[in-house]
Amino acid sequence: MRSAISKGLETVVFTEHYEYLSTGEPTGSFSDLGNVERIADEVMRLRNAYAGRIRIGFGLEIGQWQFAHDKVERLLCSFPFDFVIASYHKVDDVDLKLHDYRREDVEALVQKYLCGLLEISSGCDFDSLAHLDLIRRYAHMQGVDVHIETHEEAVREILSNIVRRGRLLEVNTSAYRQGLDEPFPSATILRWYRQEGGRLVSLGSDAHHTDDIAAGFERATILVESLGLEVVTDPMVKAHR
Ligand SMILES: [Zn+2]
Repeated sequence: MRSAISKGLETVVFTEHYEYLSTGEPTGSFSDLGNVERIADEVMRLRNAYAGRIRIGFGLEIGQWQFAHDKVERLLCSFPFDFVIASYHKVDDVDLKLHDYRREDVEALVQKYLCGLLEISSGCDFDSLAHLDLIRRYAHMQGVDVHIETHEEAVREILSNIVRRGRLLEVNTSAYRQGLDEPFPSATILRWYRQEGGRLVSLGSDAHHTDDIAAGFERATILVESLGLEVVTDPMVKAHR
């Protein structure tokens, strides 16, 4: 919390992961209800400890939501979440990190990835869609350039679903730490979002360590504003969307 306050943040939201497989079952490694409970308790404790100094949100990042609508609905009723992110980390039940981008049919992988995001963006009740072109991160780690912009129509459809349904697009700054010049999603995709009528984005640093909290936010804000978009000051307030 001291790191967040010293960086001038007015609001910070903790979002534990919870993910599903295509069978609708939780993944195991990234679906630990015990962790969600511990974070809920910790958020309540921190809210008391830092009252008046920073707003602290309790959130969740749900992976592969499209496979488990009923289970997610029950999960969301079980905790007082302030902010829910949707993401897509596993294609064919294999983590994006574990695909072999040099050997696999990357084009087929990208198509499946976009299909999943289309389903999520059109039918899931999230607040913000996380790191839209995340596949770029893992391909890049293996020395392969993947740009989902070659599928402009599908990407625009995902963006227009977000706009039409009054959701936020996340700008994830972890890309900068991983040696990429653009956040997730890229400037081109952010420009398309604006063209599709999008106005607001939420910032996510994907911080798993205190040093990374809000890392790259200034750089991302400059980019976002140069494209005519605006960063929401408090992503938990839904009224301005
Ligand atoms: Zn994620």
